[in-house]
Amino acid sequence: MLRQRTVIGFIAALSLTTSLAAQAPATERRVLIRAGRLIDVATDGTKTDQGILITGDRITRVGPYADVASAAGNAERVDLSRSTVLPGLIDAHTHLFLDGTVYADQVLKQSIPFRTIQAVTAARAALTYGFTTIRDLETEGAMYADVDVKTAIDRGIIPGPRMLVATRALAPTGMYPLTGYSWELVMPAGAQLVDGADNLRKAVREQVKFGADWIKLYADRDSYVGDDGRLHSWPNWTEEELKAIVDETRRLGRLVSAHATGVEGIDAALRAGVHSIEHGDGLTPELVDRMMRQRVYWCPTIYVGARPLTGRPPLRATMAEFKRKAFGEAVKRGMGDLIAFGTDAGGFAWTENPAQEFAYYVRYGMTPPQALRTATTNAARLLGRDKDLGTIAAGKLADLVAVDGDPLTDAAVLTKVTWVMKGGIIHR
Ligand SMILES: [Zn+2]
Repeated sequence: MLRQRTVIGFIAALSLTTSLAAQAPATERRVLIRAGRLIDVATDGTKTDQGILITGDRITRVGPYADVASAAGNAERVDLSRSTVLPGLIDAHTHLFLDGTVYADQVLKQSIPFRTIQAVTAARAALTYGFTTIRDLETEGAMYADVDVKTAIDRGIIPGPRMLVATRALAPTGMYPLTGYSWELVMPAGAQLVDGADNLRKAVREQVKFGADWIKLYADRDSYVGDDGRLHSWPNWTEEELKAIVDETRRLGRLVSAHATGVEGIDAALRAGVHSIEHGDGLTPELVDRMMRQRVYWCPTIYVGARPLTGRPPLRATMAEFKRKAFGEAVKRGMGDLIAFGTDAGGFAWTENPAQEFAYYVRYGMTPPQALRTATTNAARLLGRDKDLGTIAAGKLADLVAVDGDPLTDAAVLTKVTWVMKGGIIHR
């Protein structure tokens, strides 16, 4: 019964989305790509006139075009001989359910069905920009609708990146918007508000039950510049609460992402054993060294705070300046391989290409190849998917993008992806 319904649903979806239907399912379809230039992100090398053979959703062979072509038989041909081919990009910090407008308006005036429709268009935009995988770090009040978007993408009903989702995120009472309203009103919150270690364990179990791949927690709030010149913050949790979240998440085979901007928040998150720090504006050399010792990843989300915008509150500009210094220092100290590309897309409109983040990484101290690795090999490792994603090699998923120009010398070309394949299916 269930199975039959799934099959009927799939057929209906195929007849509606003709562009996808023409190519799905991708089980044993074979495609031979001729790449004018192929980037090996692991070695920063570029090889010319390469062949990539794809069977179903995986890469089965990579090498000089003539060699691969001779073994490709009657595979479909894709000519990218005038382009540079590189692995599909990964954005490890997105919000499909935000549209870059006023936060309270989204939470108060938009229904979850409406926000989900917007999320579907955001997912398509992300894929079109070349992001074949995203870690979507909470729905900001749209409950578990990210799991539904992910399912629809996985079933080929709508186009979008492969998704790892965080569902609702965790914050304690009073420490996440919407706040500041009359006590007579029961306001909705953008995260799941939970207090106490036992309740947090239950909340983690609940989020995992409904499909969370990651658990996201808000480690701090209200950053301020202290007399010592460092960026401080107010930690949100007791040590016992934080440890309970991390312990329960680990026990269920998931990973923890911690929003943390100031010294106190980052310190608390690291002591609890989280797997990634989001934003990290107030990172000091000492905290960077601790992250390297603990192998904790950093998603810097620079573009959202640094992009040109009038009327930005002064603290935002100050935090962006802290982040610029922290980024340069982290790269200098050798943290580059633990920096994973993350943009906070949705914090700005999805009509802006999140790949503009790359140029900031280069401006703040990375080489272009290093910047490219943040969105390929580094992000794949952070997500625990490096066996499948992050490089172009036999056995990996066929997630590929093409650009004109050379991203190893000019990171800005990554904002102009011209061709996108995800899991062997061409989407652009
Ligand atoms: Zn975010």
